[in-house]
Amino acid sequence: MTETVSSASSTAVVRGACPHDCPDTCALLTTVENGRAIQVQGNPAHQATDGVLCTKVARYPERTYHPKRLLTPLKRVGPKGSGQFEPVSWDAALHDIAHRLQAIAAHNPEAVVPYSYAGTMGLVQGEGMAARFFNRLGASLLDRTICSSAGAEALTYTLGGKVGMKLAFFAESKLILIWGSNSIGSHLHFWRLAQEAKRQGAKLVCIDPRKTETADKCHVHLAIRPGTDAALALALMHELIVHNWLDPDYIAQHTSGWDALRDRALQWPPARAAQVCGIDALQITDLARDWGTTQPAAIRLNYGMQRVRGGGNAVRAIACLPALTGAWRHRAGGLLLSSSGHFSMHKAALQRPDLLGERRPRTINMSTIGDDLLRPSCPVFGPAIQALVVYNSNPVAVAPESGKVVRGFAREDLFTVVLEHFQTDTADYADYILPATTQLEHWDLHTSYGHTDILLNQAAIAPLGQARTNTDIFRALAVRMGFNEPCFADDDLTLCRTALGDEERFAQLLQNGFVALPLPDAPFAQGGFPTPSGRCEFFSPRLAAMGQDGLPDHIPNYEVPVKTDPFPLAMISPPARHFLNSTFVNVSSLRTIEVEPVLEMHADDALARGISSGDVVKVFNDRGEYHCKADVSRRARPGVVHGLGIWWRKFGLNGTNVNELTSQHLTDIGRAPVFYDCAVQVVRHG
Ligand code: SF4
Repeated sequence: MTETVSSASSTAVVRGACPHDCPDTCALLTTVENGRAIQVQGNPAHQATDGVLCTKVARYPERTYHPKRLLTPLKRVGPKGSGQFEPVSWDAALHDIAHRLQAIAAHNPEAVVPYSYAGTMGLVQGEGMAARFFNRLGASLLDRTICSSAGAEALTYTLGGKVGMKLAFFAESKLILIWGSNSIGSHLHFWRLAQEAKRQGAKLVCIDPRKTETADKCHVHLAIRPGTDAALALALMHELIVHNWLDPDYIAQHTSGWDALRDRALQWPPARAAQVCGIDALQITDLARDWGTTQPAAIRLNYGMQRVRGGGNAVRAIACLPALTGAWRHRAGGLLLSSSGHFSMHKAALQRPDLLGERRPRTINMSTIGDDLLRPSCPVFGPAIQALVVYNSNPVAVAPESGKVVRGFAREDLFTVVLEHFQTDTADYADYILPATTQLEHWDLHTSYGHTDILLNQAAIAPLGQARTNTDIFRALAVRMGFNEPCFADDDLTLCRTALGDEERFAQLLQNGFVALPLPDAPFAQGGFPTPSGRCEFFSPRLAAMGQDGLPDHIPNYEVPVKTDPFPLAMISPPARHFLNSTFVNVSSLRTIEVEPVLEMHADDALARGISSGDVVKVFNDRGEYHCKADVSRRARPGVVHGLGIWWRKFGLNGTNVNELTSQHLTDIGRAPVFYDCAVQVVRHG
């Protein structure tokens, strides 16, 4: 922190980190004047941030001082979901919550379920004191699958972990495949590097069903059908093989399962894949030639493409491509899906799984919370869920098949506590809403899944109103529950230090706000993948041992629309550019830009239904219906519609959002939701 004090006013600039679910994990500088944050900027000293923030977080003061910010604990006074609450003291709220949780836990603590995700990516305000609390209680564990687990596990079965090339070196690549990522909207700082590469003569290829803003600026766009990425990757391999665009030395020394993968790939000539993907075979052969003959060549893979039934296999197939051509030999070559596996933080010391003792609670998959809230007690499932404690998440808006999620949350016998900044769709169903601090009001420690730096977030301002940190709320609940282990007295700075486990680095973080991991420039130039074999595992013995196909393959979507079907259109739900999942939807200046919920559709599909831009449409399937405005758009390919999200249900034209239509099916690997594997019909409404 730097500070200037005059007799009239005091100004300070405080170093922090962006908490949001975004690979960029920007370093922030918050200017505080007389105790009020007046500006949040990117830290120019942090290479990955380069002094630039996205439009969303540049508005962080607007969000922090939002007139509807929750500033006092609230207790429900109306029916569930009515949104009727009255203020209550912290003491009364904490006393009653502890009493209710204790009563449920006395019968079976697994009837209590924590529900959280990446509302903050911070290690401390995320699963810091909260994990200690739920471990001590013996509550159900939560399988946090809702975003990335399919791709993350697939990568682990192939490369050995969530590891990849260093972000900064994309600027030196000669060919970049931007696969399943609208980088301009959701990975801005990578896009700046890709632009730099483009200026140096690199070719940019976008692979995405939607013609995104990013696709507009790439040299080539392959608008494949949702869920066909593995077919494309296998056909690229086919061409690498038949044209001998391979690096046999790299394959021999640093991979395993090549013969079997070769046989599999030879079953995928471009003509076959072209039919599956809905593109021209020539586009596949052209891309294979580029990939096979250009060095250094790199793939920026993102999580959109793994939100389908075969998402894990698709990531595995794509992750094989750099090893085939020896792209890993170059620091500007290889692949990056996530860098989070490079960090070795002291999670056990932070989260204290030892507090479970001998207990081994069941695990609830957060992606099937709709079904699970409606399940009665039974020997297989265990006790019905009787209490939910939600923090850093908005499941009523973001979990799939939200009709069922809402029915579950509406159960009058379910005791629900929500820690939040705002009265979200989920908070509407709470028994208690507890006002939580924002990133400007607390300390935290951050790793990244884009770059490889650790960042420290220092509190810039005092908590607003009666808001308390997540850690403080769980600390206070622990006291009232009689949890007297000393770890429940740790303050947030201690928790940051514990998670880092390195005092020298902590001193650097206090000084600079960030510190880089010491990693080689080209981590797999000489192989050394963190798999059991040390090789890039084309064939995964671990998957085979679980009864799965050890080789990547194309697995068709659960819902492959056919023209004559009742639901003949495929729907994907990528983020609206100015929202981040369901965060920022209530920030007026950002919502004004997005205007209203829309469904992008191709002119042919619109014409066939008598739909024009601006018409209210009903989008529906067996699971429910969603009303929004049609946008007849060149961004959509025929047969695929885009429900941009994630709007809060309460801002929807009929009180729903796009997740009313998505299903609770799970991916092949990683038990993740299949948001982009969803067939619908669209008609004009009214
Ligand atoms: S959301 Fe992403 S791009 Fe925006 S400030 Fe945060 S980390 Fe940076």
